[in-house]
Amino acid sequence: MKIAELRVTPVAFADPPLRNSTGVHEPYAIRTIVQVRTDEGLEGAGETYGGQSIVEGIEAARPLVIGQSPTRLECMRMAIRDPHVYSPIEVACLDITGKAMGLSVSELLGGPIRNQVEFSAYLFYKYEDENDDWGRVMDPEAMLREAKRFHRTWGFKCHKLKGGVLKPEEELETLRMLREHFGDSHQLRIDPNGVWAVGTSIRMGKAMAQYNMEYLEDPCSGMAQMAEVRENVPVPLSTNGVVTAWSHFPEAVELGPVDVVLSDHHYWGGLVATKYLGHVCEVLGLGVSMHSNSHLGVSLAAMLHAAAVTPQITYACDSHYPWVKEDVIRGEMFRFQDGCLDVPRGPGLGVEIDPEKLGRLHEKYLRAKQARRDDQRLIRTYEPNWVNRFPRW
Ligand SMILES: [Mg+2]
Repeated sequence: MKIAELRVTPVAFADPPLRNSTGVHEPYAIRTIVQVRTDEGLEGAGETYGGQSIVEGIEAARPLVIGQSPTRLECMRMAIRDPHVYSPIEVACLDITGKAMGLSVSELLGGPIRNQVEFSAYLFYKYEDENDDWGRVMDPEAMLREAKRFHRTWGFKCHKLKGGVLKPEEELETLRMLREHFGDSHQLRIDPNGVWAVGTSIRMGKAMAQYNMEYLEDPCSGMAQMAEVRENVPVPLSTNGVVTAWSHFPEAVELGPVDVVLSDHHYWGGLVATKYLGHVCEVLGLGVSMHSNSHLGVSLAAMLHAAAVTPQITYACDSHYPWVKEDVIRGEMFRFQDGCLDVPRGPGLGVEIDPEKLGRLHEKYLRAKQARRDDQRLIRTYEPNWVNRFPRW
């Protein structure tokens, strides 16, 4: 069985005006769908970040993929080199091999150690938008309402607050209200996206310890700065900012910036790499959680298989999926229950691309004219006096 065809389709889907430390989500989130087809007619799917550069990267890898066997993952990984480019191709090839063998992707990768994966409620401060009914969420009270609705609708018991948006004291007040409302059986984490100064991070880290935080994610930027914060706060630190590649580990071992590393198969280099990451972190005494960007169901299926085969992922995984209203997968969208999703049984990934839906979201991509994600582009329509500052607080 040889790979005969590689199709790369950029797509866009509606995204609410969610806030983060650097700006606001644009009306469309962009992603890239990869479809690999063999000479025997089997087809596999992968998904990754959106934007011109990743599309070009995957297109450039075409000669390294066509003619290969979909089981020769290591050869393709070594030839492609870029983990961002390799990841969706690996996922699509695993999808094909799983279908050929009648096995799910997690069965192929050593077998699932869990059949269900727990997720966190990804709570965003946000502006009002005519296309969604979440309203304006720009103060602690409104955020508590958002969190209650997340819990009521999908049953999440872990709450991740995207921070670095309001004044640190207001975000602390938000954490206080969340802890008071949900009680000690729920988990709380906050991610200011590296926008707090070291002094602010230490002050806030000490103050939030009373709310029994699961972890504080990237309060500030820089490995040494994170290490300084970690030395001075009683709350565990996590990151998808300072340990995001294998080459970061030697310095991380030396400085000790975090307690928990966020996996993400899209940039660590696929599902096999996620298993390696779990093992490396275990050896180093680090915990493993899972990072998310805005994504569709193909990525979500891959994330589920990754979590199913990586025993070291013991934290609820992050996912933007509750904010997504349209998808490229056939049939129903995924729906969280009790904060969890079942790992698809396969064969392969367990999801199929719906060509009509793919075409629709590709049309949206063409109309959106967003060649890359830019959270700065629209922020001044909401905050006319916006000034870029780093650190902000
Ligand atoms: Mg983060």
